[in-house]
Amino acid sequence: MKILVINCGSSSLKYQLIDMDDNKKVIAKGLCERIGIEGSRLTHKVPGHDDIVIDKEMKDHKVAVTMVMDALMDKEYGVVKDKSEIGAVGHRVLHGSVFFTDSVVINDEVKRVIRECFDLGPLHNPANLIGIEACEAILGDTPQVAVFDTAFHQTMPKKAYMYAIPSEYFEKYHIRKYGFHGTSHSYVSKRALEVADLDPDNSKVIVCHLGNGSSVSAVLNGKCVDTSMGLTPLQGLVMGTRCGDVDAAVVQYIANKENRTVDDVLNILNKKSGVLGISGVSSDFRDLEAAENEGNEAAHTAMECFVYSVVKYIGAYVAAMNGVDAIVFTAGIGENNKDIRNRVLSYFTYLGVEVDDEKNSVRGEEIVVSTPASKVKVCVIPTNEEVAIANETLACVQ
Ligand code: ADP
Repeated sequence: MKILVINCGSSSLKYQLIDMDDNKKVIAKGLCERIGIEGSRLTHKVPGHDDIVIDKEMKDHKVAVTMVMDALMDKEYGVVKDKSEIGAVGHRVLHGSVFFTDSVVINDEVKRVIRECFDLGPLHNPANLIGIEACEAILGDTPQVAVFDTAFHQTMPKKAYMYAIPSEYFEKYHIRKYGFHGTSHSYVSKRALEVADLDPDNSKVIVCHLGNGSSVSAVLNGKCVDTSMGLTPLQGLVMGTRCGDVDAAVVQYIANKENRTVDDVLNILNKKSGVLGISGVSSDFRDLEAAENEGNEAAHTAMECFVYSVVKYIGAYVAAMNGVDAIVFTAGIGENNKDIRNRVLSYFTYLGVEVDDEKNSVRGEEIVVSTPASKVKVCVIPTNEEVAIANETLACVQ
């Protein structure tokens, strides 16, 4: 079956068409940018061919989905003859609140609940729903599946997800920790069982998804028992532009001092903080590393704060699970930045962690980078959220 994976942002749409019967091969993929904004562009990639770039107004996501379908079926560079060749569509949906513990085939009720979660994912959930409705309009009866970023974390016990605020807010508004990057944590923790040769029913895995947004999760016997992100992706690690854990009183303090609204301050904490905020240089770790190497003190501080926040969560989750069998790194920084991995792991010599420098230099592969003598296995596992979404979609429609 060919599965179309769709990931809608507020002004973007990423897609991949994956052939599940041909080793999960990506047949085509692409990106629609600046949807609803002047200068919209579709970049369509077919492996082995030059990129197709189409600059054309996309007033909304429905136009974007139409252009994607046209590109997929184009006479010259298309990869399917008819839309009926697409067996199912898998949509990444940010927030499923307490309502979804798994991926689901989309129907009117599912759409109603995704709408109910708009407040919890104000930037993403509305775009996700628009993408779903646009695909329905164009693909008719083709089954569509919602794969939630929050679902994998729904196995957390109450002691991990409750905030210590009056329980009426939990009861009335479902305010609690949810966690995100669930598709990645799920996929990577499962792959880790194979790569590190662990017993699925007796395994303690810590997954560090370190990208522009970053989160750590504790996975005990294949089930998530804690994760660093919260009600929204703002909580947890120091990130590219997000502050991660701060004293909640910071919000009031900045609002009063700078005469700003709560919304203004939250915007600052989401978009202008993290390593960007500390360094004043960039949210991108490649820029930060370059600045640090040139002696930029603020960039050095930002990197140290990031590493320290990862270390603290790993330490907390070793405690939560009373041990750890494997620490796994994934996403842009986790997969590519050996120096950051080394800095993080240097805090865990007390656990008997030993890294093999040669293996730790390998890129783009699923690999155990610890030495045979290491008491904890350390792995690097490239995440593949699209394939994970396609797997979930197939499981739901079969
Ligand atoms: P997002 O959360 O946007 O998906 P990514 O997982 O792509 O983010 O991670 C972005 C971060 O990963 C950036 O800080 C970037 O510096 C780093 N990164 C991505 N690719 C590489 C690479 N090839 N080499 C070094 N760093 C990389």
